[in-house]
Amino acid sequence: MRVCNLSSGSDGNLTYIESKNAKVILDAGLSAKEIEFRLSLLKVSPKDLDAILITHEHIDHIKGVDVIATRYNIPVYVHNKGYNALYNKLKRAEQIKFVRFDDMDFSINDLKISNFAVPHDSVYCCGYTFKENEKKLSILTDLGHTTSEVLSKIKGSTLVYLEANHDEDMLKANPNYSFVLKQRILGKNGHLSNISAAQVIKYLAENGTKQVMLSHLSRENNTPSVAYKTICDYLKEYGII
Ligand SMILES: [Zn+2]
Ligand SMILES: [Zn+2]
Repeated sequence: MRVCNLSSGSDGNLTYIESKNAKVILDAGLSAKEIEFRLSLLKVSPKDLDAILITHEHIDHIKGVDVIATRYNIPVYVHNKGYNALYNKLKRAEQIKFVRFDDMDFSINDLKISNFAVPHDSVYCCGYTFKENEKKLSILTDLGHTTSEVLSKIKGSTLVYLEANHDEDMLKANPNYSFVLKQRILGKNGHLSNISAAQVIKYLAENGTKQVMLSHLSRENNTPSVAYKTICDYLKEYGII
Protein backbone atom coordinates (compact mmCIF):
# COMPACT_ATOMS: atom_id res chain seq x y z
CA MET A 1 0.00 0.00 0.00
CA ARG A 2 1.13 3.52 -0.79
CA VAL A 3 -0.30 6.48 1.08
CA CYS A 4 0.50 10.16 0.92
CA ASN A 5 -1.22 13.05 2.59
CA LEU A 6 -1.26 15.95 0.14
CA SER A 7 -2.98 18.50 2.36
CA SER A 8 -4.24 18.53 5.92
CA GLY A 9 -6.03 21.06 8.11
CA SER A 10 -8.79 23.61 7.80
CA ASP A 11 -7.33 24.96 4.52
CA GLY A 12 -8.12 21.65 2.84
CA ASN A 13 -7.73 17.90 3.20
CA LEU A 14 -6.56 15.42 0.59
CA THR A 15 -4.97 11.99 1.06
CA TYR A 16 -3.97 9.61 -1.71
CA ILE A 17 -4.11 5.86 -1.09
CA GLU A 18 -3.01 3.16 -3.50
CA SER A 19 -3.06 -0.63 -3.35
CA LYS A 20 -1.93 -2.99 -6.09
CA ASN A 21 -5.24 -2.63 -7.96
CA ALA A 22 -6.91 0.47 -6.53
CA LYS A 23 -6.21 4.18 -6.47
CA VAL A 24 -8.40 6.40 -4.31
CA ILE A 25 -8.40 9.75 -2.61
CA LEU A 26 -9.85 10.42 0.79
CA ASP A 27 -11.55 13.83 0.79
CA ALA A 28 -11.06 16.46 -1.89
CA GLY A 29 -10.85 19.68 0.08
CA LEU A 30 -8.69 21.68 -2.34
CA SER A 31 -9.57 23.26 -5.69
CA ALA A 32 -9.59 20.82 -8.61
CA LYS A 33 -6.53 22.56 -10.06
CA GLU A 34 -4.62 22.07 -6.82
CA ILE A 35 -5.72 18.43 -6.56
CA GLU A 36 -4.51 17.78 -10.12
CA PHE A 37 -1.20 19.46 -9.34
CA ARG A 38 -0.56 17.65 -6.06
CA LEU A 39 -1.46 14.25 -7.54
CA SER A 40 0.91 14.97 -10.42
CA LEU A 41 3.73 15.20 -7.85
CA LEU A 42 3.06 11.49 -7.24
CA LYS A 43 2.79 10.87 -10.99
CA VAL A 44 -0.89 10.06 -10.55
CA SER A 45 -3.54 11.28 -12.96
CA PRO A 46 -7.04 11.95 -11.59
CA LYS A 47 -8.44 9.90 -14.48
CA ASP A 48 -6.87 6.80 -12.90
CA LEU A 49 -8.74 7.26 -9.60
CA ASP A 50 -11.29 4.60 -8.69
CA ALA A 51 -13.01 6.61 -5.98
CA ILE A 52 -13.27 9.74 -3.92
CA LEU A 53 -14.13 8.78 -0.34
CA ILE A 54 -15.72 11.42 1.87
CA THR A 55 -15.32 11.79 5.63
CA HIS A 56 -17.89 14.58 6.08
CA GLU A 57 -19.47 17.58 4.42
CA HIS A 58 -17.33 20.40 5.84
CA ILE A 59 -15.87 22.56 3.08
CA ASP A 60 -12.23 21.77 3.93
CA HIS A 61 -13.03 18.17 2.93
CA ILE A 62 -15.22 18.65 -0.15
CA LYS A 63 -14.19 21.89 -1.88
CA GLY A 64 -12.96 20.19 -5.07
CA VAL A 65 -15.46 17.33 -5.25
CA ASP A 66 -17.84 18.98 -7.75
CA VAL A 67 -15.19 19.65 -10.37
CA ILE A 68 -12.85 16.71 -9.91
CA ALA A 69 -15.66 14.11 -9.76
CA THR A 70 -17.45 15.42 -12.87
CA ARG A 71 -14.35 16.26 -14.91
CA TYR A 72 -12.93 12.74 -14.54
CA ASN A 73 -16.14 10.80 -13.88
CA ILE A 74 -14.93 9.50 -10.51
CA PRO A 75 -17.54 7.91 -8.20
CA VAL A 76 -18.00 9.59 -4.83
CA TYR A 77 -18.33 7.25 -1.85
CA VAL A 78 -20.28 8.55 1.12
CA HIS A 79 -21.97 7.05 4.17
CA ASN A 80 -25.77 6.88 3.95
CA LYS A 81 -26.09 9.15 6.97
CA GLY A 82 -23.92 11.84 5.37
CA TYR A 83 -25.30 11.58 1.84
CA ASN A 84 -28.02 14.25 1.98
CA ALA A 85 -25.77 16.81 3.65
CA LEU A 86 -23.09 16.23 1.04
CA TYR A 87 -25.54 16.23 -1.87
CA ASN A 88 -27.04 19.54 -0.75
CA LYS A 89 -23.63 21.21 -0.52
CA LEU A 90 -22.46 20.19 -3.99
CA LYS A 91 -23.37 22.31 -7.01
CA ARG A 92 -23.06 19.50 -9.55
CA ALA A 93 -24.55 16.72 -7.42
CA GLU A 94 -26.98 15.68 -10.16
CA GLN A 95 -24.07 14.86 -12.48
CA ILE A 96 -22.10 12.88 -9.91
CA LYS A 97 -22.24 9.12 -9.47
CA PHE A 98 -22.58 8.45 -5.75
CA VAL A 99 -21.86 5.13 -4.08
CA ARG A 100 -23.56 5.04 -0.70
CA PHE A 101 -22.40 2.68 2.02
CA ASP A 102 -23.51 1.84 5.53
CA ASP A 103 -21.51 0.53 8.48
CA MET A 104 -20.56 -2.68 6.67
CA ASP A 105 -17.06 -3.17 5.28
CA PHE A 106 -16.68 -2.87 1.52
CA SER A 107 -13.93 -3.17 -1.07
CA ILE A 108 -12.67 -1.18 -4.01
CA ASN A 109 -10.83 -3.80 -6.04
CA ASP A 110 -8.23 -5.24 -3.63
CA LEU A 111 -8.48 -2.41 -1.11
CA LYS A 112 -10.60 -3.45 1.90
CA ILE A 113 -12.29 -0.53 3.59
CA SER A 114 -13.96 -0.17 6.99
CA ASN A 115 -15.66 2.94 8.25
CA PHE A 116 -16.84 4.06 11.65
CA ALA A 117 -18.61 7.08 13.12
CA VAL A 118 -16.54 9.73 14.82
CA PRO A 119 -17.93 12.47 17.09
CA HIS A 120 -17.73 15.77 15.19
CA ASP A 121 -20.12 18.66 14.61
CA SER A 122 -21.02 17.74 11.04
CA VAL A 123 -24.18 15.89 10.02
CA TYR A 124 -22.16 12.67 9.95
CA CYS A 125 -18.42 12.06 10.06
CA CYS A 126 -16.54 8.86 9.24
CA GLY A 127 -13.14 7.56 10.14
CA TYR A 128 -11.68 4.95 7.79
CA THR A 129 -9.35 2.00 7.79
CA PHE A 130 -7.80 0.56 4.62
CA LYS A 131 -6.32 -2.91 4.40
CA GLU A 132 -4.19 -4.56 1.80
CA ASN A 133 -2.69 -7.94 2.72
CA GLU A 134 -1.38 -7.54 6.29
CA LYS A 135 -1.04 -3.75 6.14
CA LYS A 136 -3.66 -1.59 7.83
CA LEU A 137 -3.93 2.16 7.50
CA SER A 138 -6.28 4.26 9.66
CA ILE A 139 -7.25 7.84 8.99
CA LEU A 140 -8.81 9.68 11.88
CA THR A 141 -9.28 13.44 11.79
CA ASP A 142 -12.05 15.87 12.74
CA LEU A 143 -13.19 14.41 16.01
CA GLY A 144 -13.85 15.97 19.40
CA HIS A 145 -12.99 12.89 21.40
CA THR A 146 -12.34 9.20 20.94
CA THR A 147 -14.76 6.45 21.83
CA SER A 148 -14.08 2.81 22.62
CA GLU A 149 -15.54 1.94 19.19
CA VAL A 150 -13.08 4.27 17.45
CA LEU A 151 -10.14 2.83 19.39
CA SER A 152 -11.14 -0.75 18.64
CA LYS A 153 -11.42 0.06 14.92
CA ILE A 154 -7.94 1.59 14.62
CA LYS A 155 -6.25 -0.98 16.91
CA GLY A 156 -3.52 -2.96 15.18
CA SER A 157 -2.91 -0.36 12.46
CA THR A 158 0.44 -0.30 10.71
CA LEU A 159 0.12 3.46 10.22
CA VAL A 160 -2.36 5.99 11.61
CA TYR A 161 -3.01 9.51 10.38
CA LEU A 162 -4.29 11.12 13.56
CA GLU A 163 -5.61 14.58 14.25
CA ALA A 164 -3.50 16.72 16.59
CA ASN A 165 -5.47 19.90 16.08
CA HIS A 166 -4.52 22.30 18.82
CA ASP A 167 -2.59 23.05 21.93
CA GLU A 168 -5.29 23.81 24.48
CA ASP A 169 -3.40 26.73 26.05
CA MET A 170 -2.64 28.33 22.67
CA LEU A 171 -6.30 28.02 21.69
CA LYS A 172 -7.60 29.47 24.96
CA ALA A 173 -5.18 32.41 24.71
CA ASN A 174 -5.88 33.16 21.03
CA PRO A 175 -7.40 36.68 20.85
CA ASN A 176 -8.66 36.11 17.29
CA TYR A 177 -11.04 33.31 18.28
CA SER A 178 -14.42 34.06 19.86
CA PHE A 179 -15.49 32.32 23.05
CA VAL A 180 -18.11 30.40 21.08
CA LEU A 181 -15.57 29.16 18.53
CA LYS A 182 -13.17 28.09 21.28
CA GLN A 183 -15.96 26.17 23.00
CA ARG A 184 -16.82 24.50 19.68
CA ILE A 185 -13.26 23.36 19.04
CA LEU A 186 -12.66 22.24 22.63
CA GLY A 187 -16.03 20.49 22.89
CA LYS A 188 -16.86 16.79 22.61
CA ASN A 189 -17.76 17.22 18.93
CA GLY A 190 -14.95 19.58 17.98
CA HIS A 191 -11.32 18.74 17.28
CA LEU A 192 -8.72 16.56 18.98
CA SER A 193 -6.09 18.38 21.07
CA ASN A 194 -2.42 17.42 21.17
CA ILE A 195 -2.79 15.85 24.59
CA SER A 196 -5.86 13.84 23.54
CA ALA A 197 -3.91 12.67 20.48
CA ALA A 198 -1.07 11.63 22.81
CA GLN A 199 -3.47 9.43 24.78
CA VAL A 200 -4.64 7.77 21.55
CA ILE A 201 -1.02 7.21 20.44
CA LYS A 202 -0.19 5.62 23.80
CA TYR A 203 -3.04 3.15 23.23
CA LEU A 204 -1.90 2.48 19.67
CA ALA A 205 1.74 2.03 20.66
CA GLU A 206 0.76 -0.43 23.38
CA ASN A 207 -1.10 -2.38 20.72
CA GLY A 208 1.71 -2.61 18.20
CA THR A 209 1.43 0.50 16.01
CA LYS A 210 4.82 1.93 15.11
CA GLN A 211 3.95 4.83 12.82
CA VAL A 212 1.67 7.79 13.44
CA MET A 213 1.40 10.90 11.29
CA LEU A 214 0.03 13.97 13.06
CA SER A 215 -2.68 15.60 10.96
CA HIS A 216 -5.16 18.48 10.74
CA LEU A 217 -2.94 20.79 12.81
CA SER A 218 -4.43 24.23 13.41
CA ARG A 219 -2.42 26.98 11.77
CA GLU A 220 -3.22 29.40 14.61
CA ASN A 221 -3.42 27.21 17.69
CA ASN A 222 -0.61 24.74 17.14
CA THR A 223 2.75 24.28 15.47
CA PRO A 224 4.39 21.06 14.33
CA SER A 225 7.07 21.40 16.99
CA VAL A 226 4.56 22.09 19.81
CA ALA A 227 2.45 19.09 18.77
CA TYR A 228 5.50 16.85 18.46
CA LYS A 229 7.00 17.89 21.79
CA THR A 230 3.72 17.68 23.74
CA ILE A 231 3.09 14.18 22.44
CA CYS A 232 6.67 12.93 22.84
CA ASP A 233 6.84 14.27 26.41
CA TYR A 234 3.58 12.51 27.29
CA LEU A 235 4.68 9.22 25.75
CA LYS A 236 8.10 9.37 27.41
CA GLU A 237 6.37 9.20 30.81
CA TYR A 238 5.17 5.75 29.77
CA GLY A 239 8.48 4.66 28.32
CA ILE A 240 7.30 5.03 24.73
CA ILE A 241 9.89 6.60 22.43
ZN1 LIG B 1 -11.60 19.39 8.77
ZN1 LIG C 1 -14.87 19.06 10.04
